Amino acid sequence: MLAAIFKGNEEIEIVDKEMPVAGPDDVLIKVSYCGLCGSDKRLFYQGSAIVPGHEISGVIVQSGANVSLKAGTKAIIYIPLFCGKCVECRTGNNNRCPNINGLVGWQLPGGYEEYLVVPARNVIPLPPDISLDEGVLLLDTIGTPAHGIRLCSKCVGHPATGKAAIIGCGPLGLGSMLVLQAMGCQEIYAYDVAEDRLGLAISLGARPLPLPAQNQEATFPLIIEATGNERGRQLALDLVKAGGAVLLLGESNNPWIIKPSPKLRRKDCFYIRSFYFPLNEVDDNFKIFREKRDSFKKLISKVGSLLDIETMHKEFCAGKTIKPLIKLETVMHEVK
Ligand SMILES: [Zn+2]
Ligand SMILES: [Zn+2]
Repeated sequence: MLAAIFKGNEEIEIVDKEMPVAGPDDVLIKVSYCGLCGSDKRLFYQGSAIVPGHEISGVIVQSGANVSLKAGTKAIIYIPLFCGKCVECRTGNNNRCPNINGLVGWQLPGGYEEYLVVPARNVIPLPPDISLDEGVLLLDTIGTPAHGIRLCSKCVGHPATGKAAIIGCGPLGLGSMLVLQAMGCQEIYAYDVAEDRLGLAISLGARPLPLPAQNQEATFPLIIEATGNERGRQLALDLVKAGGAVLLLGESNNPWIIKPSPKLRRKDCFYIRSFYFPLNEVDDNFKIFREKRDSFKKLISKVGSLLDIETMHKEFCAGKTIKPLIKLETVMHEVK
């Protein structure tokens, strides 16, 4: 089979790799699509010991002896390798499992290869009305923000009851915006330094966020910080109202620094960080997708083959695409 090796320095090599073998509790997946993610950028620049890719959809082609899932099942892959036995896992809060033994695409080979072995419990079967390309959006684009927003709603109330602001209109920010719309939030403001990304947010129903002049009143009960940079976090702090919540979704390779300032010391608010989504939210996330299907699909800005993967990462890192997908079915079996 073909696999993409991230060699570092923006170089990706397509190589022939031995097919993986499913153990008794595993499934062998024929990968259909794998979405590019901002968190892969580091691997693109620095290289990776394993094949990356963690926003994966595919079809089961073989099930281990202990697995009841049938060949032909269309699915997306849940990436935390949870234990399945602890209290968190038994109640469906698998993202909180204290025994997580790595992530698919990070510690276990990911979706930038034609076949993949994962534990059967990491398979999320897709409902018949959601296709394999759409399915990818149910992971980082919908699952991650939806979970973070649900956490925030425990502190600041349901998003339908107030306005919200999104800082950073990349895949996480735009995903958050559409999730909020699907949840009934009527008034969403968006900000991005890139005009085209902000333009996309506005075309999908956001209002441009007025930047706070000094001492302007902070009025937002919910701010989603999806840039991962210090300036974005500072802006979130400026805009969140007392009693409100800042959802820290953005990630970067820079250290997370929150500088002490009078504003930070004197603000009474929630800072919320979330990680991935629990399996007990999956059905609700399917409903969110159905609610705004046409808008979510606009985030899939490009579909290319495994042979396009290096070029597509360059475009993605330059901010030219939102959620490009690698389609693994179209690869010609030619290895240089
Ligand atoms: Zn991701
Ligand atoms: Zn567990």
